[in-house]
Order: sequence, then C-alpha cells, then structure tokens
Amino acid sequence: MTGRSTRPGQAAALSWTTAPALSQATAPSPSQAAAPALNQATAPSPSQATTPALSQATAPSPNRATAPALSQTTTPALSQVTTPAQATSPLHLLIDRLAAGEKLTRTELACLLERREGEHRDYLFARAREIQHRVFGNKVYIRGLIEFTNYCKNNCYYCGIRRDNRSASRYRLTEEQILECCRAGYELGFRTFVLQGGEDPYFTDGRITGLVRAIKAGYPDCAVTLSIGEKDRASYEAYFAAGADRYLLRHETANDGHYGKLHPAELSLRRRMECLRDLKDIGFQTGAGFMVGSPGQTMDCILDDLEFLRDFEPEMVGIGPFIPHHDTPFAACAAGTLELTVYLLGLVRLMLPRVLLPATTALGTISPGGREQGILAGANVVMPNLSPGDVREKYLLYDNKICTGNEAAECLDQLRQAMSSIGYEVAVDRGDAPGHSKTEGSEL
Ligand code: SF4
Repeated sequence: MTGRSTRPGQAAALSWTTAPALSQATAPSPSQAAAPALNQATAPSPSQATTPALSQATAPSPNRATAPALSQTTTPALSQVTTPAQATSPLHLLIDRLAAGEKLTRTELACLLERREGEHRDYLFARAREIQHRVFGNKVYIRGLIEFTNYCKNNCYYCGIRRDNRSASRYRLTEEQILECCRAGYELGFRTFVLQGGEDPYFTDGRITGLVRAIKAGYPDCAVTLSIGEKDRASYEAYFAAGADRYLLRHETANDGHYGKLHPAELSLRRRMECLRDLKDIGFQTGAGFMVGSPGQTMDCILDDLEFLRDFEPEMVGIGPFIPHHDTPFAACAAGTLELTVYLLGLVRLMLPRVLLPATTALGTISPGGREQGILAGANVVMPNLSPGDVREKYLLYDNKICTGNEAAECLDQLRQAMSSIGYEVAVDRGDAPGHSKTEGSEL
C-alpha cells in the first residue's frame, strides 16, 4: 500500500468500547483524538456481537454478507410500516430529534453509530422509511448508467481502472453507441441518463458538451447526469450550459488524512471540495458520497463524512461499501460491510430528508438483496447499467461487480418485481431532487 499515513491509529477515542454515554454532556470531541482504523482489531464490546467492525482481519468474499442481514422480519415492506411508537429510550430520542431536522452534535452522532444494533437500528430504519415515504411516496427512481470510457489519467489506490492498471482492457464508446444506449433506455422507461467515465483527456469539453446536447435534443424530457471527475469551473459551466442537469462527484472521504491514504499526492481533498462547491454554485443537482470500510477509515472519518454531508446539503449522496479490486494496492484489504452501509443510508435519509439516495451497485454486489435492503433503509434510487453488454465487464472498479441479472437493462422487469416485493414502485420519471425539477430550460 502506498498511501500517505497521517493517522497513527493507536488511541481509542471512538472505539466501540469507549464511545461516550449519551448522558455525558462534556464527552471529549471524537475529533480530538486519533481513532483506530476500522479494519484494525479492537477489543469487542457487547454490541459487537451483532455489529462487527467495518472490516475484518481477512478479506471476505464481496459476495458474502459480512454482517447480520436486515431480515424481512425487522425490515417490513412499506405497507407494513407504521408510525414508530413514542420514543422510549435516549437513542430513540436522538433518532427522533434527527428526524425532526435537529442538528445533532458529533458526540450524539457517534452514539448513534456505535449503538446501531437491535431495536435502535430497526427504529432508525422505520423513521427513515417514514421520511422517505413522506417525500417520495413509494417511488424508486431509476437511472440509466452509461459507462462510456474506462480510460483514466488518475491513479486512485482503490480503483480498478486506475491509470497504472495495465491489465485493464480499455474502451471508449462512440457518440453513436452512447445515443443507442439512450434510445434503448428510453424505451425501457429511463428518464435519466448517467454518463460515467474515468478522467479521460480524449473526452474534451467540446466532446462532452456535444454529447450532452445530442442527448437533450433526442430526449428533451430526460435528465442528464455527468460523473466524469474533477474539472475546471469553466468546464463545469460549459456542461451546465449545454443542458447537463446533475453531476456526481463523490468526495470519498471528508477527512484530509484519510484522503491522502486513498489517493496519490497529486489529488487533494481541498481540490475535490472546491469542485463540489463550484458544481453546487453553478446550479447542478450535485452528488457527493463516500465508501464504507475503505482502508484506513475510522469512525472519526465517518463522522467527518456525516458532518460534511449535513452542512454541504448535496442533492444526491452515493454511499457504497468499499470492495477491493485485485489489481490495485488495496487488493488484500477487507471489504466494507452491508450492515454499516445500510445503516448509514438510514442516517443520511434522516439528516437530509429530500436527498436522492441510491442503493448502489456495490451494495448489490456484496449481498444479493443488498439493494432492496438499501431501499428499506431509506434509499430511493437504483442505477441499472445501460452500457453495451460487451463493455460492462471492462468497467470494473472493484471485483465481482454485478454485470448481469438485474443490472442489465433487459432485466428491468426483475428489478420492478424486486421493488414491488418490498412495497415500492419503479417510476418512469426524471426523478429530480425536490425543488430542482427542470423542464425545457425552465427551472421550477
Ligand atoms: S476513482 Fe475515478 S478518478 Fe480515480 S482512478 Fe478511478 S475512475 Fe479515475
């Protein structure tokens, strides 16, 4: 591993055994002491019997759930959800305050993270579903994902299409291929297309704006989302002027030291945040997000992520488990867990009621029912793959990524059935963030 290490990882300010009690009004700020990396062994607390550390000493198969699943008995279909009973415990009260729009302290958020088992967990999911239902009804928005280039000039340590991976089989889709993906997707009911790719210098601003204009001309009732990395503000402005509606740029981690462990020195958290601010300022529905269980992540890092998301108020938040790729410096690292990822989705739904929150492909990769569990925790978006079948396996950001089954546009019916089985309906809708609906150039 070549990441820069800035956090010694020996103190245990926020370990599972030492999180402050709710009653401790003056508990030390978790940010004041270095916390152990979540993939380091720590003394188990009683709660760990049901909530294991984010990652374990040896890397589990990403296909195996490494944490207790949200069983159907504890995560009922939407129709079975009733308004939670009067809060009966301090943790329930914290969840209620969060659901009421209150800003919790870092210590209070730490308590929610630490004691996320059993009835507290169920209560949090019930409140999250309540808000999800209030804002979005039982609708799940679908996005047609078009992975149009796997060339990238960057070298993020966790990414399977990083520049230095000589084993990656590189490809670029032509404009005709991309438009064909849109045509097929539109027929299937997609009303948002997500153009996702590495930071590929071949796709100049001229080519990107040309693509956006072509899609908007052909499908004026559809939204276009770009996910093509860090650019100058002028580039973002050009994409927006061409008609792009949304931009996804995961911040990956809001902790500067941790950012340095995941990225080479030429990439910085400062620059990433600058890009995110530019995007929001320009008017994009802006998406941030992070990986759960990435190497070196501590509970402090997650608290930094939650506080950043709360304060930045992105319109979209992508949270998925870290899954190692065999040709990266993190090949031997453990994957993040379904359990914590899903819990964080619930927390984010409570913190940002109107956010567009995907149940990610990575969630579906670590567990067959992962995306359904994500929806039941408060997510409201899924992103099936519209890329041509012969390139899907080449866009391998991590190992064992699901490329077939529900991920194929041809299997959209299966996705509809899966959502229906838990009480949700796949919407034929642009699915804008509330307050950001845009029709034919007019902002509503
Ligand atoms: S994470 Fe994105 S920017 Fe980093 S190497 Fe992968 S595709 Fe490139």
